[in-house]
Amino acid sequence: MTARVLVVDDNPANCKLLEVRLNNEYFEVLTASNGPDAILICEKSLCDIVLLDVMMPEMDGFEVCRRLKSHVSTAHLPIVMVTALDQPADRVRGLEAGADDFLTKPIDEMQLIARVRSLSRLKVTIDELRNRAATTVALGMIAPFGAPSAEDGRRGRLLVVDDRKNSAERLSVALAPHHAVTIEANAQEAMFKAAEEHVDVLIISLGLANYDSLRLCSQIRALERTRNLPILLVADAEDRDRVLRGMELGVNDWLSRPVDRNELLARVRTQLRQKRYADSLREKVQQSIELALFDPLTGLNNRRFLENHLSTMIENARIRRAPLTLMILDIDYFKRVNDTYGHDCGDEVLKGFADRLRGIIRGGDLLCRLGGEEFVIVMPGVNATAAARIAERARQAIEQEAFVMTEDGQSISITTSIGLAERRDDTGSHELYRRADQALYRSKSEGRNRVTAAAA
Ligand code: GH3
Ligand code: MG
Ligand code: MG
Repeated sequence: MTARVLVVDDNPANCKLLEVRLNNEYFEVLTASNGPDAILICEKSLCDIVLLDVMMPEMDGFEVCRRLKSHVSTAHLPIVMVTALDQPADRVRGLEAGADDFLTKPIDEMQLIARVRSLSRLKVTIDELRNRAATTVALGMIAPFGAPSAEDGRRGRLLVVDDRKNSAERLSVALAPHHAVTIEANAQEAMFKAAEEHVDVLIISLGLANYDSLRLCSQIRALERTRNLPILLVADAEDRDRVLRGMELGVNDWLSRPVDRNELLARVRTQLRQKRYADSLREKVQQSIELALFDPLTGLNNRRFLENHLSTMIENARIRRAPLTLMILDIDYFKRVNDTYGHDCGDEVLKGFADRLRGIIRGGDLLCRLGGEEFVIVMPGVNATAAARIAERARQAIEQEAFVMTEDGQSISITTSIGLAERRDDTGSHELYRRADQALYRSKSEGRNRVTAAAA
């Protein structure tokens, strides 16, 4: 996978060096020699990741980072701060500015490539989710979403998988002030906990004595429930090859021993922030899927859902040689309700109507609002005779009791006309709907407030 990396450094030789190395790994590289130029490039969405030098004249890297992270159009871009090795305080300042990751000069080639790879993989996921969520925002279905930097990256639930007692305890002590930490020495047990319990980030020692740590990582990636769980490896310095294998398996990040406390905290924080951001985007996408299949006014399934699902229901009935009946219910003279009492009262009647139908259907039935004041009930296992009795109950339930408005206690009486049709051996969904609709038309033309069954 490739990505466009923006290298920001006031020193042209540094830019060139990084450009060559990244080019060797097939990344596209853009360069900028100062902060304002870098911000312009980011605002035009020309890059996927930013490698940002801290020490620059006029606008330093912290300021560039702060500005990028505080702007909606650029806040999701991963930023790697490039700091001097002898300036550990820079990391803290970088964190405060919202940086996602760090590299120290002189830059280690493997660290560079692995981190850029990991962040670009993440960016692909985030972009996809942002696009889907953006569509739903554009359609007005959900509120606009924030940025990952809005998330403080604390109070995570961390699972440390390490069978060396001292090492596990050191990690735990460093993390405990900010997070809830659980230590697990057994890899199988860890797998179970990751799948069954609420875990935000997994921290796995690469040198487990009784289990292949990389196998654990690949198992976690293979399981649906843990596929998106961030994994941070803790590796010995000489384990570089296996770290690389881990990154190929989808490990998100790693740290070398001896573990620097601030670096550990920073990396965990980054993973947490990104996970929570991705989770919130996923949730919005989920919401939009629900909105696409449900009618917001009544909470019933909508026409689109019926169109997609009806043929499956008919096919199932055919296989089981079971009856299936579809009925259409249309409120009589509903336009008058709106005209007399107002549109809001009309809406309340529609909700009340849906609730009464809910009380009449059974578990396997499908109740939808097609739109307007038209509803459909699909009843598997029910023939036309039985359906006609149910329809009659529904008709009476609507007619017998007026709908009382919450606002002014006004009561509104309505009636409903119903048409129904039972499937025949070769009936498709359109044909079934058409026959029920014709029956409904007869109910309407013969005086309304009645049930008509289509001829078998
Ligand atoms: P009929 O007995 O022939 O069915 O007459 P009707 O007035 O019920 O039928 P018609 O199709 O002429 O009018 C339906 C009305 O339903 C028109 C429209 O304003 C109203 N309507 C459609 N959707 C909504 C809605 O979501 N809320 C409200 N309040 N009214 C709606
Ligand atoms: Mg009507
Ligand atoms: Mg109508």
